[in-house]
Amino acid sequence: MLAELIHPIAAMDHREWEFRPRPSNGGPDTCLRKLTYQAFEAPQKNQHGRFLVVLDDSSWHEELVVQWLERTVFHLHSRQLRIACGTTIWKGHRQTINGQIDGIITDLFGTDRLLEIKAIEHFTFQRYEDGTYPTNYFTQVVFYIVGVLTLNPELREALLLIKNKNQSAFLEYRLRYHPEEDRLTVVEITHSNGTHTFPNQEFIGLYRQALARFAVLETHREAGSLPIRPYIDANNFHCDYCPFRKLCWEGFTRIPLAGQQPMRAELIPLAQEFVDIDDRLGPLEKRWKEIKQQFQLELRATGRQSLYGGGYAVDSTVSSQNRLDESLLPTALVARSKRPRPIEKISIRKIHTTKHVESATDTPTALAS
Ligand code: SF4
Repeated sequence: MLAELIHPIAAMDHREWEFRPRPSNGGPDTCLRKLTYQAFEAPQKNQHGRFLVVLDDSSWHEELVVQWLERTVFHLHSRQLRIACGTTIWKGHRQTINGQIDGIITDLFGTDRLLEIKAIEHFTFQRYEDGTYPTNYFTQVVFYIVGVLTLNPELREALLLIKNKNQSAFLEYRLRYHPEEDRLTVVEITHSNGTHTFPNQEFIGLYRQALARFAVLETHREAGSLPIRPYIDANNFHCDYCPFRKLCWEGFTRIPLAGQQPMRAELIPLAQEFVDIDDRLGPLEKRWKEIKQQFQLELRATGRQSLYGGGYAVDSTVSSQNRLDESLLPTALVARSKRPRPIEKISIRKIHTTKHVESATDTPTALAS
Protein backbone atom coordinates (compact mmCIF):
# COMPACT_ATOMS: atom_id res chain seq x y z
CA MET A 1 0.00 0.00 0.00
CA LEU A 2 2.73 2.46 0.98
CA ALA A 3 5.98 0.77 -0.02
CA GLU A 4 5.52 1.55 -3.70
CA LEU A 5 4.76 5.23 -3.18
CA ILE A 6 7.96 6.64 -1.72
CA HIS A 7 10.39 6.15 -4.62
CA PRO A 8 8.08 7.70 -7.27
CA ILE A 9 7.44 10.70 -4.98
CA ALA A 10 11.20 11.17 -4.55
CA ALA A 11 11.67 11.00 -8.34
CA MET A 12 8.81 13.47 -8.89
CA ASP A 13 10.22 16.03 -6.46
CA HIS A 14 13.76 15.78 -7.79
CA ARG A 15 15.31 18.94 -9.29
CA GLU A 16 18.75 18.84 -10.93
CA TRP A 17 21.25 21.41 -9.65
CA GLU A 18 22.90 23.56 -12.25
CA PHE A 19 26.28 22.01 -12.88
CA ARG A 20 29.44 23.98 -12.08
CA PRO A 21 32.87 23.22 -10.64
CA ARG A 22 32.51 22.54 -6.92
CA PRO A 23 34.76 21.18 -4.15
CA SER A 24 32.76 17.93 -4.28
CA ASN A 25 33.45 17.21 -7.96
CA GLY A 26 37.13 18.12 -8.18
CA GLY A 27 38.47 14.78 -6.88
CA PRO A 28 40.63 12.47 -9.00
CA ASP A 29 38.17 9.55 -8.76
CA THR A 30 35.36 11.37 -10.58
CA CYS A 31 35.12 10.61 -14.29
CA LEU A 32 36.02 13.75 -16.23
CA ARG A 33 33.92 12.58 -19.16
CA LYS A 34 30.87 12.40 -16.88
CA LEU A 35 31.52 15.97 -15.67
CA THR A 36 31.76 17.05 -19.31
CA TYR A 37 28.36 15.48 -20.09
CA GLN A 38 26.99 17.38 -17.08
CA ALA A 39 28.59 20.58 -18.34
CA PHE A 40 26.81 20.07 -21.70
CA GLU A 41 23.55 19.31 -19.87
CA ALA A 42 23.45 16.12 -21.94
CA PRO A 43 20.28 14.03 -21.54
CA GLN A 44 20.75 11.66 -18.66
CA LYS A 45 18.89 8.65 -17.44
CA ASN A 46 16.22 9.77 -15.00
CA GLN A 47 17.46 9.31 -11.50
CA HIS A 48 15.76 6.33 -9.98
CA GLY A 49 13.63 7.27 -6.97
CA ARG A 50 15.34 4.64 -4.85
CA PHE A 51 18.75 6.21 -5.52
CA LEU A 52 17.38 9.64 -4.54
CA VAL A 53 16.01 8.21 -1.29
CA VAL A 54 19.44 6.67 -0.59
CA LEU A 55 21.02 10.14 -1.03
CA ASP A 56 18.39 11.71 1.18
CA ASP A 57 19.02 9.04 3.85
CA SER A 58 22.70 10.02 3.83
CA SER A 59 21.85 13.66 4.62
CA TRP A 60 19.70 12.54 7.54
CA HIS A 61 22.47 10.25 8.80
CA GLU A 62 24.83 13.23 8.72
CA GLU A 63 22.32 15.28 10.73
CA LEU A 64 22.08 12.51 13.31
CA VAL A 65 25.86 12.41 13.63
CA VAL A 66 25.82 16.16 14.36
CA GLN A 67 23.28 15.58 17.11
CA TRP A 68 25.58 13.00 18.75
CA LEU A 69 28.57 15.34 18.45
CA GLU A 70 26.62 18.11 20.17
CA ARG A 71 26.46 15.89 23.24
CA THR A 72 30.26 15.63 23.49
CA VAL A 73 32.71 18.07 25.08
CA PHE A 74 33.67 19.30 21.60
CA HIS A 75 32.12 22.55 20.45
CA LEU A 76 30.66 22.40 16.96
CA HIS A 77 30.08 25.77 15.33
CA SER A 78 30.11 27.57 11.96
CA ARG A 79 27.58 25.01 10.66
CA GLN A 80 26.86 25.27 6.92
CA LEU A 81 29.17 28.28 6.63
CA ARG A 82 29.53 29.37 3.00
CA ILE A 83 33.07 29.97 1.86
CA ALA A 84 34.99 30.83 -1.30
CA CYS A 85 37.49 28.05 -2.03
CA GLY A 86 39.27 29.45 -5.09
CA THR A 87 38.53 30.52 -8.62
CA THR A 88 38.38 28.88 -12.01
CA ILE A 89 37.31 29.82 -15.52
CA TRP A 90 33.79 28.59 -16.18
CA LYS A 91 31.66 29.38 -19.23
CA GLY A 92 34.34 31.81 -20.32
CA HIS A 93 34.34 33.85 -17.10
CA ARG A 94 36.34 33.81 -13.90
CA GLN A 95 34.15 32.16 -11.31
CA THR A 96 34.44 31.56 -7.59
CA ILE A 97 34.38 27.95 -6.46
CA ASN A 98 31.93 28.11 -3.57
CA GLY A 99 31.70 25.64 -0.75
CA GLN A 100 29.57 25.03 2.30
CA ILE A 101 31.22 23.34 5.25
CA ASP A 102 29.59 20.97 7.74
CA GLY A 103 31.23 22.96 10.53
CA ILE A 104 34.28 23.69 12.63
CA ILE A 105 34.88 21.66 15.75
CA THR A 106 36.84 23.03 18.70
CA ASP A 107 38.46 20.75 21.28
CA LEU A 108 39.01 21.46 24.99
CA PHE A 109 42.39 23.10 24.25
CA GLY A 110 40.73 25.56 21.90
CA THR A 111 42.09 23.97 18.71
CA ASP A 112 39.79 24.44 15.73
CA ARG A 113 39.45 21.76 13.08
CA LEU A 114 37.30 21.67 10.00
CA LEU A 115 34.66 18.93 10.25
CA GLU A 116 33.37 17.06 7.22
CA ILE A 117 30.79 14.31 7.76
CA LYS A 118 29.88 11.59 5.26
CA ALA A 119 27.46 8.69 5.50
CA ILE A 120 28.07 5.87 3.05
CA GLU A 121 27.01 2.30 2.32
CA HIS A 122 28.69 -0.75 3.76
CA PHE A 123 30.85 -1.93 0.84
CA THR A 124 32.54 1.41 0.20
CA PHE A 125 33.06 1.79 3.95
CA GLN A 126 34.71 -1.65 3.95
CA ARG A 127 37.10 -0.59 1.19
CA TYR A 128 38.16 2.40 3.30
CA GLU A 129 38.53 0.16 6.35
CA ASP A 130 40.79 -2.09 4.26
CA GLY A 131 43.09 0.82 3.43
CA THR A 132 41.73 2.51 0.30
CA TYR A 133 41.87 6.27 0.81
CA PRO A 134 38.76 8.37 0.04
CA THR A 135 40.69 10.78 -2.20
CA ASN A 136 37.60 12.56 -3.51
CA TYR A 137 36.61 13.46 0.06
CA PHE A 138 40.22 14.49 0.77
CA THR A 139 40.09 16.86 -2.20
CA GLN A 140 36.83 18.34 -0.93
CA VAL A 141 38.40 18.85 2.51
CA VAL A 142 41.42 20.57 0.93
CA PHE A 143 39.12 23.02 -0.89
CA TYR A 144 37.29 23.77 2.35
CA ILE A 145 40.50 24.34 4.30
CA VAL A 146 41.70 26.74 1.59
CA GLY A 147 38.39 28.59 1.97
CA VAL A 148 38.37 28.63 5.78
CA LEU A 149 42.01 29.82 5.88
CA THR A 150 40.86 33.20 4.58
CA LEU A 151 38.74 33.55 7.75
CA ASN A 152 40.94 31.66 10.21
CA PRO A 153 44.61 31.55 9.13
CA GLU A 154 45.45 29.22 12.07
CA LEU A 155 43.25 26.34 10.94
CA ARG A 156 45.36 23.57 9.43
CA GLU A 157 43.62 20.35 10.42
CA ALA A 158 40.39 18.65 9.49
CA LEU A 159 38.42 15.68 10.75
CA LEU A 160 36.74 13.66 8.05
CA LEU A 161 34.18 11.52 9.85
CA ILE A 162 32.62 8.71 7.80
CA LYS A 163 29.63 6.72 9.00
CA ASN A 164 28.73 3.23 7.81
CA LYS A 165 24.98 3.62 7.27
CA ASN A 166 24.36 -0.12 7.63
CA GLN A 167 26.30 -0.77 10.79
CA SER A 168 26.82 2.64 12.42
CA ALA A 169 30.58 2.09 12.50
CA PHE A 170 32.71 5.24 12.13
CA LEU A 171 36.04 5.99 10.52
CA GLU A 172 37.75 9.27 11.34
CA TYR A 173 40.65 10.69 9.33
CA ARG A 174 42.64 13.43 11.02
CA LEU A 175 44.14 15.39 8.16
CA ARG A 176 46.72 18.19 8.16
CA TYR A 177 47.08 20.54 5.22
CA HIS A 178 50.09 22.67 4.22
CA PRO A 179 48.70 25.13 1.67
CA GLU A 180 52.15 26.45 0.72
CA GLU A 181 53.10 23.03 -0.70
CA ASP A 182 49.55 21.84 -1.38
CA ARG A 183 50.37 18.86 0.83
CA LEU A 184 47.74 16.88 2.74
CA THR A 185 48.92 14.43 5.40
CA VAL A 186 46.77 11.65 6.83
CA VAL A 187 47.97 11.98 10.41
CA GLU A 188 45.71 9.54 12.18
CA ILE A 189 42.89 7.14 11.36
CA THR A 190 40.56 6.21 14.19
CA HIS A 191 37.97 3.46 13.93
CA SER A 192 34.96 3.37 16.25
CA ASN A 193 36.10 -0.14 17.26
CA GLY A 194 38.97 1.56 19.12
CA THR A 195 41.85 1.07 16.67
CA HIS A 196 44.17 3.98 15.86
CA THR A 197 46.72 4.06 13.07
CA PHE A 198 49.19 6.82 12.22
CA PRO A 199 49.92 6.34 8.51
CA ASN A 200 51.60 9.69 7.90
CA GLN A 201 50.52 9.26 4.28
CA GLU A 202 51.01 12.35 2.14
CA PHE A 203 48.99 13.54 -0.85
CA ILE A 204 50.72 16.28 -2.80
CA GLY A 205 48.87 18.53 -5.24
CA LEU A 206 45.21 17.57 -4.70
CA TYR A 207 44.12 21.22 -4.94
CA ARG A 208 46.34 22.02 -7.93
CA GLN A 209 45.22 18.89 -9.77
CA ALA A 210 41.54 19.65 -9.15
CA LEU A 211 41.98 23.16 -10.60
CA ALA A 212 43.79 21.65 -13.58
CA ARG A 213 40.87 19.22 -14.12
CA PHE A 214 38.41 22.12 -14.03
CA ALA A 215 40.52 23.90 -16.65
CA VAL A 216 40.49 20.80 -18.91
CA LEU A 217 36.73 20.51 -18.37
CA GLU A 218 36.25 24.11 -19.50
CA THR A 219 38.38 23.44 -22.60
CA HIS A 220 36.13 20.49 -23.53
CA ARG A 221 32.99 22.48 -22.78
CA GLU A 222 34.14 25.25 -25.07
CA ALA A 223 35.33 22.93 -27.84
CA GLY A 224 32.26 20.66 -27.64
CA SER A 225 34.55 17.66 -27.24
CA LEU A 226 34.64 14.77 -24.80
CA PRO A 227 37.61 13.42 -22.89
CA ILE A 228 38.43 9.78 -23.57
CA ARG A 229 36.68 7.21 -21.41
CA PRO A 230 38.94 6.48 -18.46
CA TYR A 231 37.75 2.85 -18.19
CA ILE A 232 38.44 -0.15 -20.43
CA ASP A 233 34.72 -0.98 -20.70
CA ALA A 234 31.42 -0.19 -19.00
CA ASN A 235 31.76 -3.01 -16.46
CA ASN A 236 32.85 -1.01 -13.44
CA PHE A 237 30.92 0.64 -10.64
CA HIS A 238 31.64 4.19 -11.90
CA CYS A 239 29.77 3.47 -15.12
CA ASP A 240 27.12 1.35 -13.36
CA TYR A 241 25.98 4.39 -11.39
CA CYS A 242 26.55 6.95 -14.14
CA PRO A 243 23.38 8.55 -15.60
CA PHE A 244 25.17 8.89 -18.98
CA ARG A 245 26.17 5.23 -19.28
CA LYS A 246 23.93 4.49 -22.26
CA LEU A 247 24.87 7.67 -24.11
CA CYS A 248 28.54 7.17 -23.35
CA TRP A 249 28.94 3.55 -24.46
CA GLU A 250 26.19 3.18 -27.06
CA GLY A 251 27.65 2.05 -30.37
CA PHE A 252 31.12 1.96 -28.86
CA THR A 253 33.44 -0.22 -30.87
CA ARG A 254 36.98 -0.72 -29.88
CA ILE A 255 39.24 0.69 -32.60
CA PRO A 256 41.87 -1.88 -33.47
CA LEU A 257 45.19 -0.64 -32.19
CA ALA A 258 48.05 -0.34 -34.64
CA GLY A 259 51.41 1.36 -35.03
CA GLN A 260 53.82 2.82 -32.53
CA GLN A 261 54.58 6.19 -31.04
CA PRO A 262 56.97 7.53 -28.42
CA MET A 263 55.74 7.16 -24.86
CA ARG A 264 54.77 10.29 -22.90
CA ALA A 265 57.72 11.24 -20.64
CA GLU A 266 55.71 10.94 -17.40
CA LEU A 267 54.88 7.28 -18.20
CA ILE A 268 58.52 6.17 -18.42
CA PRO A 269 59.07 5.90 -14.61
CA LEU A 270 55.85 3.86 -14.42
CA ALA A 271 57.10 1.43 -17.08
CA GLN A 272 60.40 1.16 -15.21
CA GLU A 273 58.58 0.53 -11.91
CA PHE A 274 56.44 -2.17 -13.56
CA VAL A 275 59.48 -3.97 -14.97
CA ASP A 276 61.24 -3.79 -11.56
CA ILE A 277 58.21 -5.24 -9.76
CA ASP A 278 57.74 -7.87 -12.47
CA ASP A 279 61.36 -9.01 -12.10
CA ARG A 280 60.84 -9.60 -8.39
CA LEU A 281 57.29 -10.92 -8.64
CA GLY A 282 58.06 -14.02 -10.78
CA PRO A 283 60.53 -15.73 -8.37
CA LEU A 284 58.46 -14.59 -5.37
CA GLU A 285 55.25 -16.08 -6.76
CA LYS A 286 57.03 -19.36 -7.50
CA ARG A 287 58.31 -19.56 -3.92
CA TRP A 288 54.86 -18.51 -2.57
CA LYS A 289 53.24 -21.43 -4.42
CA GLU A 290 55.91 -23.88 -3.22
CA ILE A 291 55.39 -22.92 0.43
CA LYS A 292 51.61 -23.11 0.10
CA GLN A 293 51.86 -26.54 -1.46
CA GLN A 294 54.16 -27.74 1.33
CA PHE A 295 51.58 -26.72 3.95
CA GLN A 296 48.78 -28.31 1.93
CA LEU A 297 50.71 -31.61 1.96
CA GLU A 298 51.43 -31.23 5.68
CA LEU A 299 47.71 -30.73 6.47
CA ARG A 300 46.77 -33.76 4.41
CA ALA A 301 49.52 -35.87 5.96
CA THR A 302 48.43 -34.96 9.49
CA GLY A 303 44.71 -34.98 8.71
CA ARG A 304 44.32 -31.64 10.51
CA GLN A 305 42.46 -28.53 9.40
CA SER A 306 44.76 -26.09 11.20
CA LEU A 307 48.36 -25.83 12.28
CA TYR A 308 49.71 -23.20 14.61
CA GLY A 309 52.99 -22.27 16.24
CA GLY A 310 55.48 -19.46 16.73
CA GLY A 311 52.72 -16.86 16.35
CA TYR A 312 51.48 -18.25 13.01
CA ALA A 313 48.39 -20.18 12.01
CA VAL A 314 47.72 -22.19 8.85
CA ASP A 315 44.09 -23.02 8.09
CA SER A 316 42.44 -25.04 5.39
CA THR A 317 38.96 -23.95 4.34
CA VAL A 318 36.85 -25.69 1.74
CA SER A 319 34.11 -23.90 -0.14
CA SER A 320 32.12 -24.85 -3.21
CA GLN A 321 31.34 -22.98 -6.39
CA ASN A 322 28.59 -23.68 -8.88
CA ARG A 323 30.10 -24.24 -12.31
CA LEU A 324 28.34 -25.21 -15.49
CA ASP A 325 29.14 -28.78 -16.43
CA GLU A 326 29.18 -28.58 -20.23
CA SER A 327 29.37 -32.37 -20.55
CA LEU A 328 25.74 -32.59 -19.31
CA LEU A 329 24.42 -30.17 -21.97
CA PRO A 330 23.61 -30.92 -25.63
CA THR A 331 26.69 -30.22 -27.74
CA ALA A 332 24.73 -28.00 -30.15
CA LEU A 333 23.50 -25.81 -27.26
CA VAL A 334 27.03 -25.44 -25.87
CA ALA A 335 28.31 -24.47 -29.34
CA ARG A 336 25.47 -21.94 -29.84
CA SER A 337 26.07 -20.38 -26.43
CA LYS A 338 29.74 -19.63 -27.04
CA ARG A 339 30.66 -16.06 -27.96
CA PRO A 340 34.13 -14.81 -28.77
CA ARG A 341 35.30 -12.38 -26.11
CA PRO A 342 38.34 -10.22 -26.84
CA ILE A 343 41.05 -10.56 -24.26
CA GLU A 344 43.48 -7.70 -24.08
CA LYS A 345 46.92 -8.44 -22.75
CA ILE A 346 49.40 -5.70 -21.94
CA SER A 347 53.08 -6.48 -21.71
CA ILE A 348 55.69 -3.99 -20.55
CA ARG A 349 59.33 -4.84 -21.11
CA LYS A 350 62.70 -3.22 -21.32
CA ILE A 351 63.93 -2.63 -24.86
CA HIS A 352 67.38 -1.79 -26.13
CA THR A 353 66.55 -0.08 -29.39
CA THR A 354 63.93 2.57 -30.00
CA LYS A 355 61.88 2.60 -33.17
CA HIS A 356 60.37 5.96 -33.92
CA VAL A 357 57.23 5.77 -35.92
CA GLU A 358 55.19 8.86 -36.56
CA SER A 359 51.73 8.62 -35.06
CA ALA A 360 49.05 10.91 -33.76
CA THR A 361 48.87 11.54 -30.02
CA ASP A 362 45.79 10.80 -27.91
CA THR A 363 43.18 13.27 -29.04
CA PRO A 364 39.86 13.98 -27.37
CA THR A 365 36.91 12.38 -29.12
CA ALA A 366 34.22 14.52 -30.66
CA LEU A 367 30.99 14.98 -28.74
CA ALA A 368 29.14 12.61 -31.03
CA SER A 369 31.60 9.72 -30.63
S1 SF4 B 1 29.61 5.89 -18.39
FE1 SF4 B 1 31.56 5.62 -17.35
S2 SF4 B 1 33.11 6.45 -18.77
FE2 SF4 B 1 31.11 7.18 -19.46
S3 SF4 B 1 30.88 9.16 -18.49
FE3 SF4 B 1 29.91 7.71 -17.15
S4 SF4 B 1 31.48 7.11 -15.68
FE4 SF4 B 1 32.52 8.12 -17.39
